Amino acid sequence: MKYEAVIGLEVHAQLLTKSKLFCACSTQFGSKPNTNICPVCTGQAGTLPVLNKVAVEMAIKAGLALHCEIQEKSIFARKNYFYPDLPKGYQISQYEHPLCLNGHLDKIHIQRIHMEEDAGKLLHDLGDPKVSHVDLNRCSMPLIEIVSGPDLRSAAEAADYLRKLRGILVYLEVCDGNMQEGSLRCDANVSIRPIGSKEFGTRAEIKNVNSFKFVESAINYEIKRQTERVEKGEKIVQETRLWNQAEGITESMRSKEEAHDYRYFPDPDLLPLIVDQAWIAKVKSTLPELAEAKAKRFVTEYGIPEYDANVLTAEKPMANYFEECVKANNAPKKISNWIMAELMRELKERDLYITEIKVTPKQLAKMIGMIDEGVISGSIAKTVFMEMLDSGTDPNAIVQTKGLVQVSDTGAIEAAVEKILARETENVKTYKSGKTNVFGFFVGAVMKEMQGKANPKLVNEILKKKLG
Ligand code: ADP
Ligand code: MG
Ligand code: ZN
Repeated sequence: MKYEAVIGLEVHAQLLTKSKLFCACSTQFGSKPNTNICPVCTGQAGTLPVLNKVAVEMAIKAGLALHCEIQEKSIFARKNYFYPDLPKGYQISQYEHPLCLNGHLDKIHIQRIHMEEDAGKLLHDLGDPKVSHVDLNRCSMPLIEIVSGPDLRSAAEAADYLRKLRGILVYLEVCDGNMQEGSLRCDANVSIRPIGSKEFGTRAEIKNVNSFKFVESAINYEIKRQTERVEKGEKIVQETRLWNQAEGITESMRSKEEAHDYRYFPDPDLLPLIVDQAWIAKVKSTLPELAEAKAKRFVTEYGIPEYDANVLTAEKPMANYFEECVKANNAPKKISNWIMAELMRELKERDLYITEIKVTPKQLAKMIGMIDEGVISGSIAKTVFMEMLDSGTDPNAIVQTKGLVQVSDTGAIEAAVEKILARETENVKTYKSGKTNVFGFFVGAVMKEMQGKANPKLVNEILKKKLG
């Protein structure tokens, strides 16, 4: 029997508001523990939550960008449970009546987007293994939860969906997308079923996976685990599991809680959230240009191929970087080539994000200009670029101090060509007998002789002339 995977993702995104969801406390990440807290977010008796309007607008933005129906009336409920990081004893979350319904990201259905507050954070093993600490700074941080339909069929598809979703949220400036800091977290629901079957199998939910790589590994592991169980005739239990990165496995955390365990009920401290058409229209008018529209504009405005435009606009900071480069040196195709080949490879290699590099767009644009002006050759440019990435130094300075200026002195190149032709008598014979494909070999040899600094155009010309 062959099986297929069925996957649905629940993604929590932290909204980029300055203050928390129901109080005026700061959302600053990395603050000293328990400094961004007040009686409201620490759940003191008799305090009242007040909804953050900017958070609602950010949630509406996400809903509109994901083609959801924004609900005129949504309701905050209390989700009751006990945990030491939750002083109130309940989490405020939209439940039966979320803000957004029925959207999609490409072909993947978005069931709902609802608003909720985050809980605090427990810290274990800070020296004394018998003691745990609690940091309440994260209590009541504004989140949206984006719930996909069970429409994904492989780990790669799920990771792809998550990447696109992250891209959109970052474009909208509603979330910074930082998975390491937990601003974007994902629960993956995974089940398997025989290919062709219409019914869904029992699912396991893998909690709080915080990198694209882990999402993929965790889902793949889970598919394999479930398949092996089913093939042995064992049943899948509905449960919550955790990804153990060190061992590369998912582990059972607890049996899956049911909604009724939480005793949801509308929070009597909060009025229903009413969003009228005028408000939606106002928010809609503030939506920024998203990836798709930007890619189209790049094609028409800069005349670059659609492929380049799609790659460059996948992430907003990269698109901005490209545009800044073009502003400094109007050579869009050359810049696009350099970014897609050299820059993106190095980002991957060095595990850096575009916003983390030391090379400014102006510097990269200048370096590409230096190739055009014949100051440096394409191959030397690669060396210069590496140095720029390492040190953030200006390309001019690197070229000067390292003596990398391209040699366009015909006398020097002629001397090198003559030396090579005198040495390579066999190859010269081969060339003269009509096998002109050895020409490239001569170019390479001359370049090597001149430590890569010769102007390649001149090398070609002079070689042709000398070879007759
Ligand atoms: P809960 O909030 O209790 O986790 P939901 O019904 O809201 O439950 O579903 C959460 C996620 O699980 C959704 O993304 C949905 O697409 C996905 N899902 C539901 N059933 C299955 C299943 N059988 N296999 C895989 N994913 C599923
Ligand atoms: Mg869930
Ligand atoms: Zn507070």
